[in-house]
Amino acid sequence: NWSESVIKQDEIDKYLINGKDFIDENEINEKLKTNVNHSKEDIRKIINRSLNINRLSFDETAALLNVKDEAIWEEMYAAAAEVKRRVYDNRIVFFAPLYCGNLCVNNCKYCGFRNENKDEVRKVLNFDEVKKEAEAVIDEGHKRMIVVYGEHPKTDANYIAESIKQIYSVEKKAKSGKMNRIRRININAAPMCVSDLKKLHEVGIGTYQVFQETYHKATYNDVHESGPKSDYRWRLYALHRAMDAGIDDVAIGALFGLYDWKYEVMGLLYHTADLEKRYGIGPHTISFPRMTPASGSDLSTNSKYLVNDEDFKKLVTVLRLSVPYTGLIITAREKAELRKEIIKVGCTQTDASTKIGIGEYSGVDKAELENKQQFTIGDPRPLDDVVRELAEMGKITSFCTAGYRCGRTGEKIMTLLEKTEEGKFCKLNAVLTFREYLDDYASEETRKVGEKLIEKELKEIENMKFYKAHKLTDLMTDYYERVSNGERDLFI
Ligand code: SF4
Repeated sequence: NWSESVIKQDEIDKYLINGKDFIDENEINEKLKTNVNHSKEDIRKIINRSLNINRLSFDETAALLNVKDEAIWEEMYAAAAEVKRRVYDNRIVFFAPLYCGNLCVNNCKYCGFRNENKDEVRKVLNFDEVKKEAEAVIDEGHKRMIVVYGEHPKTDANYIAESIKQIYSVEKKAKSGKMNRIRRININAAPMCVSDLKKLHEVGIGTYQVFQETYHKATYNDVHESGPKSDYRWRLYALHRAMDAGIDDVAIGALFGLYDWKYEVMGLLYHTADLEKRYGIGPHTISFPRMTPASGSDLSTNSKYLVNDEDFKKLVTVLRLSVPYTGLIITAREKAELRKEIIKVGCTQTDASTKIGIGEYSGVDKAELENKQQFTIGDPRPLDDVVRELAEMGKITSFCTAGYRCGRTGEKIMTLLEKTEEGKFCKLNAVLTFREYLDDYASEETRKVGEKLIEKELKEIENMKFYKAHKLTDLMTDYYERVSNGERDLFI
């Protein structure tokens, strides 16, 4: 019995407080019910607290979620964009997802990979195939990956650890002749026990992502019919166990469309607050995928809680204002136009040239793909197109992976983010890695747009007091020149 072998009850019970979870459904409902009809002045006071980079309280967040006046929403969109600028500047970090297998013991009603979906063509990549996929991702120009695993004995912690080692070992020559590799691997994998999490920590995973999917227990139980994932609490404390295993970089998320979106935003905030309270560090990022059609899943198209575009923008805006210093991830699940809109209200990371079929980057039988992927994507554009579009919007693409290699993770990075200083280091690394990308992978058209943006960034860097005070101006000039002359992977 796989569930029994996976779930360790004592690794759930130790996190309960007086036998209770940190998600208190009655309290969330009460906050959403009572924080209605706040005056414009009250809402503006809340917005100002966010602009001063304070995490908002549960009541304040509920008040924002319940705003009805569209003019106030416009103010909130503008404030969210400003909060993003203050903490993270104008950069967007890029990554590529890599799906290693679609065997799964669980039965999530919204997912094409679920065990009972007999239409799905099943495959787990062997390590040679994993390396081929990594090469193809490097060929696009990526430096950062999120590797995704179903929950199955064939993709257990040992498989995950080995696949990570294999990906880190791959080097590939760009058209410029420079050798490149994946510099940071984040993972999205099932909840594990502390001893398995320690194995992943040892091989150097970046962020460990576990999405709760829904914080509403009755809905959770309804849509997760069997397998270890049907245990709400095992999943709810997955990241607490990760922290206890020494992984101080974790990411949360909810699948929007399973239950009421306002409730889920509150759930994400309660999760953030509990991690902060117990470990002094909140999640590095929050994800908010919307349910999209999945093979053999009726729920994915007919749930009564599907979120429309307008509400989607609102929920991302409230998250941005509520947790100003937490990264927000918008993915290629969304169509290009909407993604562009949502990035404006404060996202910090996104993906491009995304392929979610098993083995799709390095080429599999295209006809099989529909039944070899977890859901459908909305924006299949290559990285080069998305990078250029963002550059035209004045946003610089960053492939920076310096933070964790300079020890700017966990509590340290949180402090820097809260003081709005982390973004200043990232600005330098964004320019250096963007320069690398323009020289190694960009089309001529993207290079032209990108160079104009770099010129503007370099001028800003030259004039900023922060860099002079920290003696970084000369160092940056030196590094920029060296990268332009072909050195790679210099970071600050
Ligand atoms: Fe398995 Fe994840 Fe799909 Fe659920 S959502 S069936 S756990 S791959």
